[in-house]
Amino acid sequence: MTKRYDVVVIGGGPAGMAAALSAFEKGAKVLIVERDVRLGGILNQCIHNGFGLHYIGEELTGPEYADRFVKLVESKHIDVMLESMVLRLTADRKVEILCPQGYVTVEAGAVVLAMGCRERTAGAIAVPGTRPAGVYTAGMAQKLCNMKGYLVGKKVVILGSGDIGLIMARRMTLEGAEVELVLELMPYSSGLKRNIVQCLNDYDIPIKYAHTITRLVGSPRLTGLYYAPVDENRNPILEQEQYVECDTLLLSVGLIPENDLLNGLDVEMSPITSGAVVDQNRMTSLEGVFSCGNVLHVHDLVDNVSREAEIAGASAADYAMGALKSGDTISVKAVDGVRYALPQRIAKGNEGKVDVYFRVGDVYKGKRIVVEVDGKEVYSRKTLILAPGEMEKITLTRADITGDVTVRLV
Ligand SMILES: Cc1cc2nc3c(=O)[nH]c(=O)nc-3n(C[C@H](O)[C@H](O)[C@H](O)COP(=O)(O)OP(=O)(O)OC[C@H]3O[C@@H](n4cnc5c(N)ncnc54)[C@H](O)[C@@H]3O)c2cc1C
Repeated sequence: MTKRYDVVVIGGGPAGMAAALSAFEKGAKVLIVERDVRLGGILNQCIHNGFGLHYIGEELTGPEYADRFVKLVESKHIDVMLESMVLRLTADRKVEILCPQGYVTVEAGAVVLAMGCRERTAGAIAVPGTRPAGVYTAGMAQKLCNMKGYLVGKKVVILGSGDIGLIMARRMTLEGAEVELVLELMPYSSGLKRNIVQCLNDYDIPIKYAHTITRLVGSPRLTGLYYAPVDENRNPILEQEQYVECDTLLLSVGLIPENDLLNGLDVEMSPITSGAVVDQNRMTSLEGVFSCGNVLHVHDLVDNVSREAEIAGASAADYAMGALKSGDTISVKAVDGVRYALPQRIAKGNEGKVDVYFRVGDVYKGKRIVVEVDGKEVYSRKTLILAPGEMEKITLTRADITGDVTVRLV
């Protein structure tokens, strides 16, 4: 028998749980579908602290942050399907699920996509050299270490300075491994400043910017690798190649939103975020399908994930219960140093405020963030420093948004 829910949330990480809770508060009948054995998503393996400072006002570990939401989901008796993977979503919002009971279809008044990200692997960046054991994505090493109790190596090099790589540099050190070096292709880190300080500087772990790996050495296990500085076109300068002995390489070279379920559906996607294009309610171009969290765009702070998911969940409930209709929208464009801004569309309307999140494409000092509506400045803020690793937020007054919006640096 096909079941029907007002809101089906795909993914039970922090985004999925916050979306489900806000949809429930609106009076919707909600189902969370999670492929793992428990709720919590990636937070279950993030045993370090630093979560929840903004959203909860306390410094929690990942599992503690997740647990706050799990307890709320349980106390509200929101339906949860665990060990259940959504394999297909149709345009009329039928959700097909492979679960312990078999293959089931659930009809949804609205769907919230909250499937998170997966990591880019060695294959995706084509590291030259042998194909030795000892090469892991940083997230996989984090899972093996924090959830399974395995130390993946003793002498470690990390490629990429994304937050997971930085966190793992500290974790491997605390677990007794030596982290020799962090190599970053770009002239700046893609991680949070606080993680550079707390995870590298505090442990005297060196980072070399504008450097990359030129060759892996070792068979069957990694015994070392060559690395070199890169020129302005990011090509390695081979004459300056150096060798470092190591038995493990951790890759922290980017996250890819898990949007495979949207393949074949008519959903407008952003080539910059690899997530859907959404309006201020986080509704995608497919009516009744909403997106939030890392599947929409990669977040550095889970606090922002929870806030965004609340918008998506509440809006999904409104849509399912007939209180929200899609209408004419105004576009939000990112130019002149701003890599992307989100939401990319804002529905016309006069009331309240709307938060616009954005990331810059390089490190900028002393720039002004300017927002223009049809060429007229409606917002301006001076900044000391802007970096690609830190997501920025501006709050706009809806009444000011009378035409197309442009976010730029001047
Ligand atoms: C490997 C990794 C490590 C990270 N480590 C840190 C860290 O140390 N510190 C930090 O601040 N941030 C970290 N992050 C960022 C972190 O992901 C976000 O802050 C936040 O957890 C994102 O929440 P989310 O709910 O969007 O995604 P997730 O937490 O990834 O949750 C998505 C959930 O959706 C489920 N799912 C996916 N597809 C399906 C499907 N088809 N059917 C059913 N269920 C599905 C997944 O199993 C998962 O539980 C990490 C991210 C990754 C990928």
